[in-house]
Amino acid sequence: MSSALITGITGQDGSYLAEQLHSRGIDVHALVRAESSAQEQSVAEWVTLHEGDLLSPESLRRAVVDSAPDYVFNLAGISSVAQSWKEPELTSRVTGLAVGSMLEAAWTLQESSGKPVRFVQASSSEIFGAAVEVPQNESTPIHPVSPYGAAKAYAHHLVGVYRSRGLFAATGILYNHESPRRPEAFVTRKITAGVAQIAAGTSSELLLGNLDAQRDWGWAPDYVDALVRIVEADVADDFVIATGESHTVREFVGAAFTAAGITDWQHLVAVDERFNRPVDAPLMRGDSTKIRETLGWKPTKRFDEIVSAMVNHDLELLSS
Ligand code: GDP
Repeated sequence: MSSALITGITGQDGSYLAEQLHSRGIDVHALVRAESSAQEQSVAEWVTLHEGDLLSPESLRRAVVDSAPDYVFNLAGISSVAQSWKEPELTSRVTGLAVGSMLEAAWTLQESSGKPVRFVQASSSEIFGAAVEVPQNESTPIHPVSPYGAAKAYAHHLVGVYRSRGLFAATGILYNHESPRRPEAFVTRKITAGVAQIAAGTSSELLLGNLDAQRDWGWAPDYVDALVRIVEADVADDFVIATGESHTVREFVGAAFTAAGITDWQHLVAVDERFNRPVDAPLMRGDSTKIRETLGWKPTKRFDEIVSAMVNHDLELLSS
């Protein structure tokens, strides 16, 4: 039986990934900050928990040695760009430096055990930041515009370093990917939860920041499926994971109101400066030709379907 160690299992992607790996008969291990909080966040009972902290390299090394995984999926870290502006130093440590500790631990395990270890890093479209081209692909120059993007760029380069060293070290360059499990720190869930409250009559206004930013929004379970394909590929490589379609935040708002049956919504939305970023990547759109052609991946849900799935979930939450 193969085994996998996941960091970030309590997040949106970690939870979907654990389910996918378990359904394929893979023994799932997870790094968690404290067993009790993982249990509170209802990590499934079939996951073997390893306590550790991204700020403690020794605890990461121990988790890798104790789980002795065939695969390491590194998803942990501060994942919100907005939060990275509030905590830039912490972001560089947990989203950047800790990846070096994980890679070194995987490499050392491979060297000492003689058993190959495959490492997949959740890289991000934010590494392209103020992108010099649209759409972006694996060769687009890296040009982050946020503390989060800079930390992810450092991690992205380190994965390449360990690949040159002889570790199967790969990345999925993930564009924004959403689901009902997305927290409200992200604009999509903030919108769908807010629209559901307006539809239910418990709120009268939705306050947002930059409505003109364009993002390439996909369906999170599809992106996790891509990470599994990447770990099982013949060769370790970098792959853009994106739908190839981008929409403005304003379009997302419109689609969410439409999904909730509200056609006249302009007066229900206001811009609040507090939600603006010091610098915001203006237009993200990914070209995922490489993973489509080499690993047979493709997205299964389109923009409108993603928005409706999230709005319907939030409406159900309010009515239950
Ligand atoms: P990101 O692309 O990883 O930063 O994902 P987010 O979901 O946090 O933000 C997507 C886009 O929505 C960015 O361009 C934000 O500036 C924009 N945005 C507009 N209003 C808001 C808001 O109220 N919250 C968040 N998180 N983003 C907002």
